[in-house]
Amino acid sequence: MAYYVTTPIYYVNAEPHLGHAYSTMAADVLARHMRQRGEDVFFLTGTDEHGEPVANAAEREGISPQELADRNAAKFEALMPIIDATNDFFIRTSDPRHAEQVATIMQRVYDNGWVSKGTYEGWYCPRCADFKTERELGPGNTCPIHEIPLEKEREENWFFRLSAFQERLEELYEGQPDFVVPDFRRNEAVSFIEQGLEDVSLSRPKLKWGMPLPWDPEQRMYVWFDALLNYYTALGFAREGEDLSERYWPASLHVMAKDILKFHAVIWPALCWAAGLEPPRRMAIHGFLLMGEKKMSKSLGNVLDPFAVIERFGADALRFYLFREVSFGGDGSISTAGFEARYETELANDYGNLASRVLAMVERYRDGTVPLGAVDATLSEDFEGVVERFSELLDRAELTQALEVAWVLVRRLNRFVEETRPWELAKDEADPARLDEVLYNLVEGLRVTTLLLVPYLPATSETLLAALREEGRGLAELGSRPGGQKVERVSPLFPKID
Ligand SMILES: [Zn+2]
Repeated sequence: MAYYVTTPIYYVNAEPHLGHAYSTMAADVLARHMRQRGEDVFFLTGTDEHGEPVANAAEREGISPQELADRNAAKFEALMPIIDATNDFFIRTSDPRHAEQVATIMQRVYDNGWVSKGTYEGWYCPRCADFKTERELGPGNTCPIHEIPLEKEREENWFFRLSAFQERLEELYEGQPDFVVPDFRRNEAVSFIEQGLEDVSLSRPKLKWGMPLPWDPEQRMYVWFDALLNYYTALGFAREGEDLSERYWPASLHVMAKDILKFHAVIWPALCWAAGLEPPRRMAIHGFLLMGEKKMSKSLGNVLDPFAVIERFGADALRFYLFREVSFGGDGSISTAGFEARYETELANDYGNLASRVLAMVERYRDGTVPLGAVDATLSEDFEGVVERFSELLDRAELTQALEVAWVLVRRLNRFVEETRPWELAKDEADPARLDEVLYNLVEGLRVTTLLLVPYLPATSETLLAALREEGRGLAELGSRPGGQKVERVSPLFPKID
């Protein structure tokens, strides 16, 4: 089956930071997991390049908006291999192929009668590139996100007739309770809809850095419309000479942070209907990573800079920490000290040591060949149904809970080592069959757990699966292996912090 997952396209008025890495890594975990399930995956990310904030930032630097967009888009594109993202395409909204399709689609929206002309007056935040309704305003008419005072602006605009989709949106949310996950984010979207939808401004006459409306080129399209459409337009030109929209549309999942929920969960499905497109199937909304506590680590200072962490500890460690520390969906605090603590206790000790010990024991006691052993009944009980549980959680984008399922297995395997004490079984070889069995079960447990962890720890799992002589990466054929394969020792997967 086709599985099409997207990140938001990132705004090029600034450089990539941890939040961008977080959204992208989340989408990447899901893309990798779905590939392991044999799905036909397409994973899209990219940059959002129009609008006033880009024009303003460029002006401050004395360069053109396109120059600024080119410079920062290159940085976002370079981020992807650094965080080990396996995106299939990187879309830029200043791509003329995108513009061409946006013009076609928006003309269709106009022809279908979903656009009207009117005067807009409202509180405009230039940094959000968005008007705020009265009930969204912060104290003293400020932007609730940027906490800057807003100006009341009045202008002739084209409007998208969002209000006409009130009932259809209500039906969508009723009929598809998991259209937005987690639930509390869904409730935010529903309550926004239930308060009554107003038409939204579609164009701005003042804006210079944006796409002209096909039916009124004096007006430029409000950046959100051109941006949202990227999810669809990309499929038209991601592969030279091929239109992937039949194969991948509607999108299976949009991943994003909570600050852009309204555009995606309310306006985007309506825009799809207006354009005669099927809306996406689901959206997963995550919270903000808060650097509140400022607990300092020796090696990383007090700000968790993704590039510094990756340079020193690798992308796996960062992916693991963020999805482990902050319950995916909610806001959560992170710190460099917290990173180091989890790196040492969980990655280096729980998992890295387990892997080293198991492989070392197979080498020492069985010459590096995994014994042909029987399944240990108590241990196999704890692995029962684990792939299904793990997959169900990731179907709902429960990244933290799925990781916990895998980590319970890591801890269980450590306990199994302590319970069975293979080094004592090896002493007199009184019961060689039991030692065979223990080593076999440890290798199998490590193999299965590591296959589950592939999306979270792509580089580490590759090293370990190679050492375990596991060639498959899929979950369907996970099964059990009989033993008999040669394995290799590995150097520490997560070296100690000096
Ligand atoms: Zn704002």
